[in-house]
Amino acid sequence: MPKYYLNLTPQSTGEHEVHAEGCKWLKLVSRPEYLGFFSNCHEAVENAKFKHASYIIDGCKHCCPGCHTR
Ligand SMILES: [Zn+2]
Repeated sequence: MPKYYLNLTPQSTGEHEVHAEGCKWLKLVSRPEYLGFFSNCHEAVENAKFKHASYIIDGCKHCCPGCHTR
């Protein structure tokens, strides 16, 4: 199971992206929050929404294509 991280800095369009460990874009995230181990990106996104109810959460297009909706 991969580790997942949340970008605490929103995208210019307002959403916060979830990344899996090893994503090249995660290296560029200045304020990552470790979410934990999850079997898939959907669980990671749900966890991020639970922790940050006011955030718009989306999956990274590159490492979480199944959770990328925006
Ligand atoms: Zn990513």
